[in-house]
Amino acid sequence: MSDSPPIETVVVNGLELAQELRGQMAEEVARHVDAGKRPPSLAVVLVGDDPASASYIKGKRRACKRVGFDSVEHNLAGDTSQEDLIALLQKLNADDGIDGILVQLPVPKQIDANAVAEAIAPDKDVDGVGPINAGRLVMGEDGLFACTPLGIMEILARHEIPLEGANAVVIGRSMIVGKPISLLLQRKNATVTMCHSRTRDLDAICRQADVLVAGVGVPKLVKADWIKPGAAVIDVGATHVDGEPVGDVDFDAALGVAGLLTPHRRGVGPMTITMLLHNTLKTWRDRVGV
Ligand code: NAP
Repeated sequence: MSDSPPIETVVVNGLELAQELRGQMAEEVARHVDAGKRPPSLAVVLVGDDPASASYIKGKRRACKRVGFDSVEHNLAGDTSQEDLIALLQKLNADDGIDGILVQLPVPKQIDANAVAEAIAPDKDVDGVGPINAGRLVMGEDGLFACTPLGIMEILARHEIPLEGANAVVIGRSMIVGKPISLLLQRKNATVTMCHSRTRDLDAICRQADVLVAGVGVPKLVKADWIKPGAAVIDVGATHVDGEPVGDVDFDAALGVAGLLTPHRRGVGPMTITMLLHNTLKTWRDRVGV
């Protein structure tokens, strides 16, 4: 029998943390609006009528309203050309009343998502998708970085997870999750291993992780015996199975093994939107001079 004491997993309440941060943002905005400044304003562009995208946009609209931001929506037809979309982005770039621009992904096939990301002015790129902000992240400079990774860093900081010298393993290498979170963890002096679909012995690599981030989209990929006892485990995955979102980590099995664990509901998700608001607030402060 093992002599190790049982592990009481701390389950992250991402919603509570998000609400606390949004409350602080709302106070800041109200104070400056009372003093005569215009509120922060986020432009959201949707191309087509994908129901999941429409629902994400609804969540963002509601979040903006609650913290006193304006949100301006542009709903474009599904057959909109790349040229027309970029022309709209250029107009929004030039509009001093807009602090942040977000194009809801995925975009239809006729549009190149990289070209869209490049067309958004770097100082309005609140989703952190463009090459200038990605470059700033690589170079260790200040910038607007992808929202989900920023939310994860906030969760780790709030729970005082030590990162200096820690072994961090990131599964997934996308531009919105895996790559930026790897760089942010490295900035905090973690030793980061990035894994992907061709990684060999993924389970053995995960077992070395003090901090494990799964941004894959494969339900319950990470089993309990992949987790080092006491590790901080961040589950980004949100795959819909029978209408329900399922994470990349086998949550029930990970309880009692992980030291810290995010649930797939009220975990990372609410923090992603909060960091979108955070980035918009940042660009607004610069624009209105507060
Ligand atoms: P993505 O662009 O599809 O990237 C998935 C990554 O996982 C790729 O790098 C892929 O490797 C890797 N991968 C796929 N199967 C694998 C396997 N069996 N073993 C190891 N690696 C594997 O996805 P994403 O946009 O980063 O999103 C990932 C997940 O997070 C999705 O479920 C998404 O819905 C969710 N998500 C949630 C939030 C939130 O706020 N909660 C935000 C963003 C994303 P290759 O590069 O080799 O193909």
